[in-house]
Amino acid sequence: MRGGGIRKRVMVTGGAGFLGSHLCERLLADGHEVLCVDNFFTGTKDNIAHLLDNRHFEAMRHDVSFPLYVEIDEIYNLACPASPVHYQFDPVQTTKTSVLGAINVLGLAKRTKAKVFQASTSEVYGDPLVHPQTEDYWGHVNPIGIRSCYDEGKRCAETLFFDYHRQHKLRIKVARIFNTYGPRMHPNDGRVVSNFIVQALRGEPITIYGDGSQTRSFCYVDDLIEGFVRLMDSPDEVTGPMNLGNPAEFTILELARKVIELTGSASKVEFRALPQDDPKQRQPDITTATTTLGWKPETSLEAGVTQTISYFSKFSEF
Ligand code: NAD
Ligand code: UDP
Repeated sequence: MRGGGIRKRVMVTGGAGFLGSHLCERLLADGHEVLCVDNFFTGTKDNIAHLLDNRHFEAMRHDVSFPLYVEIDEIYNLACPASPVHYQFDPVQTTKTSVLGAINVLGLAKRTKAKVFQASTSEVYGDPLVHPQTEDYWGHVNPIGIRSCYDEGKRCAETLFFDYHRQHKLRIKVARIFNTYGPRMHPNDGRVVSNFIVQALRGEPITIYGDGSQTRSFCYVDDLIEGFVRLMDSPDEVTGPMNLGNPAEFTILELARKVIELTGSASKVEFRALPQDDPKQRQPDITTATTTLGWKPETSLEAGVTQTISYFSKFSEF
C-alpha cells in the first residue's frame, strides 16, 4: 500500500468519465479497491480499458438517479455531464442526475457510514459579481436559464450534502471544481480546451464564442486529482465547500493563441455568437485549499496544454 495505509473499498460515480478515470487510476495506485459506477452517457469504456485487468477494479453500468446497494467505505460522487453541450442535451436528466444522484449516494453513505465526496463546481457562483471567487460568496445564478439545470442541480446537491451532514452526522467533502482539462477529455466534449486543440490539430478554424475577452482559470487534471485525494483524507471537521482550481486566469482569446502556438497550427480564429448566460470571468481563490490541505496546482498552462496536445495527437483521425 502506498503511504502504508489500509485498503479501502472506494466507489467512484462517473468513474468512466474524464476526471473519474484519472481518479480511479490514482486510487488503484494508492492500493484501494475501486468500484466504478457509470451509465456511459459521456464517459467511455476506453477511458477505463487499461484498468479492467486489475483485480482490485470493478466497473458497473448504473444510473445514479436510481438507488444502489453496495458495501463501501468511501464515495466520490462525480456522475454528471460537465460540458454545457452535454448537460443541455437532456436538461431534465441533468437535474435528476445531480439531485437524485446526491440523494442516492447520501442514502448509501448513511447506511454504510461511508465518507462521501461531492464534485461540485464553480458554476454555483454563476456569472460572479465577486472576483476572484471565495467560498463564502453565494453566487449570481439564473434559476431559469439554459445553464440552470447544471448550476441549480449542483447547488441543490450541495444543500443535500450539508443537510445530511447536519441531520445525520455524515462525513462530507464538497469540492467546487474550476475548469479542468487534460488527456481523456472526449474529442467532441465541447469544452474550450479540447475544442481548440482538436480544431488546431485538424487545421480547422478555432471557434471563439463572443469576442474572447471572457476569462477562465484552467487547472491540469493531475493537480486536481491530488486535491481530491487530499480533501477526502483531511480531518472529518473539514467539510468544504472548498475551491479547487488553478488561479492563473486567461482570456479565451489568449488560450486560442497559446493552442495555435503550441500546436504550430495554421488555423485562424473565427468569432461565433456568445452562448446565453456565459460567465464573463472566473478565477478561484484557493486560500482555503492551500492553508487546509497544503495544496496548490503545480502545472503551468503551457505544460498542461502540451501534454493534452500529445494525447489528442494520438487519435488516428488527425
Ligand atoms: P465527464 O462528462 O467526462 O464525466 C462525467 C461522467 O458521469 C461520465 O462518465 C458520464 O457517463 C457519467 N454520468 C453522467 N450521468 C450519469 C448518471 N446519471 N449515472 C451514472 N453516471 C453518469 O465530465 P468530467 O469533466 O469528468 O466531470 C466529472 C465531475 O466533475 C462532474 O460531476 C462535473 O460536474 C464535475 N466538474 C468538472 C469540471 C471540469 O472542468 N472537468 C468542473 C467542475 C465540475
Ligand atoms: N468557448 C469558446 N469556444 C469553444 C468552446 C467554448 O469560445 O469552442 C468559450 C465558452 O463560451 C466559455 C469558455 O470558452 O466562455 C469556457 O467554456 P467551456 O464550455 O469550456 O466551460 P464553462 O466554463 O463555460 O462551463
